[in-house]
Amino acid sequence: MTAPLLEVDGIDVFYGDVQVLHGLGFVVREGEIVTLLGSNGAGKTTTLRAIAGLRPPRRGDIRFRGASLAAVPAAARSGLGIALVPEGRELWGQLTVKENLELGAYGRRARAVAARNLERVLALFPRLAERSRQLAGSLSGGEQQMCAIARALMSEPALLMLDEPSLGLAPVIVDQVMGVIAELHRGGVTVLLVEQNLRKALEIADRGTVIETGQVRLEGTAAELSANPRIRETYLGL
Ligand code: ATP
Repeated sequence: MTAPLLEVDGIDVFYGDVQVLHGLGFVVREGEIVTLLGSNGAGKTTTLRAIAGLRPPRRGDIRFRGASLAAVPAAARSGLGIALVPEGRELWGQLTVKENLELGAYGRRARAVAARNLERVLALFPRLAERSRQLAGSLSGGEQQMCAIARALMSEPALLMLDEPSLGLAPVIVDQVMGVIAELHRGGVTVLLVEQNLRKALEIADRGTVIETGQVRLEGTAAELSANPRIRETYLGL
């Protein structure tokens, strides 16, 4: 087994007085694709936000390469190699594709290699290369998702977190997005994926963690979860 890249260790996360995550913990090892499963409101987005530093835990700890992130502000986490592609993409619609990508290169290290990374990322997404001077707001849904992923790659992440990347996309485009995630993974990026399309997520994932009401209910390999009668009934509708 490879070393843990990310350790989420018994975290409690609140919105005001409302506790949303209750001692939640799981591990993502170097080189894995791990998917977080669970119904709406289970706490998946909140988990990603906690890891990104946008909603820090009140109790428990999150470690990256063995070191606690407790004192690391959100803006500094991308410099460590943690990137989040948020739900809804959050592109700057009035800026061009190229400008959006350039804004993904935050941190001194990423800025220093921004030109090289821009070339690399545009080579990965030829469609974006063709449209690099177009406003991001004028792209199709699938192209916007690719742009959001490409922007996250500008910081050369070791851990790429994606929140519902297939949301609102046509099935053929969903396959393309999943294909890109699998390809990035083959290139050495570790992936933490939140996806409502469980079937697709389990096709590319190594392991899955099921979250219910802010706690881990079940963990297993993608094969184990796909064969689990409860998962099949509750989440796959079989
Ligand atoms: P979804 O698939 O709907 O995004 P999720 O599993 O990602 O679901 P979260 O978005 O993490 O769930 O939400 C977990 C709980 O926290 C829900 O009950 C939600 O209503 C609540 N919540 C989320 N964001 C906020 C907020 N900004 N303020 C208050 N409560 C929130």
